[in-house]
Amino acid sequence: MIDTHCHLDDLIALCPYEQVLMRAQRAGVSSLISVGVAPARWPGQKSVALRARQEGFSVGLAYGIHPWWAHEVDVAAGLAALSAWLVHEACDTLAVGEIGLDFAPNRPPIAQQMALFEGQTALARAQDLPVILHERKSADQLLRVIRRTQGLRGVVHGFVGSQQQAKAFIAQGFYLGVGAAMTHPRAVRLRAMLAALPIEHLLLESDAPNQSGALHQGAPNEPAFIGEQLAVLADVRGEEPLALGRQLDANAVALFGRGLTQAINDCPS
Ligand SMILES: [Zn+2]
Repeated sequence: MIDTHCHLDDLIALCPYEQVLMRAQRAGVSSLISVGVAPARWPGQKSVALRARQEGFSVGLAYGIHPWWAHEVDVAAGLAALSAWLVHEACDTLAVGEIGLDFAPNRPPIAQQMALFEGQTALARAQDLPVILHERKSADQLLRVIRRTQGLRGVVHGFVGSQQQAKAFIAQGFYLGVGAAMTHPRAVRLRAMLAALPIEHLLLESDAPNQSGALHQGAPNEPAFIGEQLAVLADVRGEEPLALGRQLDANAVALFGRGLTQAINDCPS
C-alpha cells in the first residue's frame, strides 16, 4: 500500500522513528509521500526522508506552503523560495504540496492565502508537477483556480466535501484523497459517497500524525493504519481489499509517477 499524504517529520517528532517505520512496513505500507508546509521546514523534511530511505523505506517528497502557514510567509519571498527549491530538488520532487485554501475561522487572511495558492499552482505547472491540495470550506474557490489553470493535475487530500463537489473535481481530472475520517461510525454520508465514486479517482492517505481514525483516537495517526481505511472502503464498496489496494496504488503511481515506488534512489547532490 502507498500512503499518499504523510507529515513524516511531524510524526517522528512524536513517535520513535524506528517504530514508525517498522509498524508501517509490517502493515504492508511500501511507500509514502512526505508533504511540506513551509520553507523553513523543507530541509528538515528532506533529511527525515533521506534517513527513512537509508532504512530501505521508499519516501517521495512534495514541497509547498500550506495555507495555515500563509501569514508567516511574505508572498513574493515564499514563491521565490519555492521556485528555487523546486529547481534545486527537481530530481527528487514528486509534487507541489501541501497547498490550498482554508476558509475556516481564524485562518490566515484570504487574500494572502489566495496569492500564495495561485502562485504555487503556477510553479507546479512550470515544473509539470501535480499538486496536493488542502481544502476546508473552499472547494468552490479551489475549483475556480483549477478550471482556469490549464493542465493542472493533482489530488484534493482528506476529501470530506459533498458528492457534487467530488464530481466537479473528478471532472477536472483530479483525484480525491481518502483518509481516516471515514473510519468514524458517524461518517455515514462520507462512506456512502465514497462507495459511489469512480475508484480510478481515489487515493489512500493517512495525513499522519493528524486525523487519527476511530481505532486510534487520542493517539498520533500513522501510515501503518491505512490498511484499516482500506478495509472500510472495501467493505462499503463491496470489493475485495487486496484488489482494491492494488487499484489505489496504481492510481497513486498514475498521478505521481514511477518515482513514487522507487524513492530510495539518490539524486546527485
Ligand atoms: Zn496534511
